[in-house]
Amino acid sequence: MTVPIVKKVRSLFFLILVVFMVKPSMAEEQHQAHEHGVGKLNIAFEGQEIEIELKAPAADIVGFEHEPKTEKEKSQVTKAIQKLTQASIMFTFPMAAKCQLEKVEIESALQTEESTTGHKEHEHNGHDKHEHNEHDKVEVHSDFEVHYRFMCGAPKLVTYLDVLFFKEFKSAHELDVQYITPKGQGMRELTPTQYRLNF
Ligand SMILES: [Zn+2]
Repeated sequence: MTVPIVKKVRSLFFLILVVFMVKPSMAEEQHQAHEHGVGKLNIAFEGQEIEIELKAPAADIVGFEHEPKTEKEKSQVTKAIQKLTQASIMFTFPMAAKCQLEKVEIESALQTEESTTGHKEHEHNGHDKHEHNEHDKVEVHSDFEVHYRFMCGAPKLVTYLDVLFFKEFKSAHELDVQYITPKGQGMRELTPTQYRLNF
């Protein structure tokens, strides 16, 4: 499927990703590190495949960061999950590039079994959930993490990506983007008015 050198590049990227994404949630005091309104987007584009990881404060996704307790809060989480997993309202590629969603995964400490459809086991046992900490009652910080994978029929025509996330989640005002594409890697800041990422 992938030639060794591509694999190498990819594993290097995931190494960077792991450092980038796991580290802030490892130390308890760093839970407060996220800034409301500001999310992260990591993009890896190689061959026909585009992987996108979105991480955003739950405050910007559902308006709160504690475990959902009331019916209203639970339905807010369910609705947010429906939006986030509907990739076509989150991202747009050029039509001609023929990009299709292959897979979407979502993780959040706020995501309870009731908020997903049916009785689905948690796929990621051992993933950090912060609700056990008694201190969380004072100030909780939780994120939503979504992992999308797209396959593009004409990857050469992927000249841009429009991030429509801001339209759906109005209190988000910034996404810090890290990307690796066949043309190189870089960082960008996207906002509700500057939402196009050119490749
Ligand atoms: Zn927070």
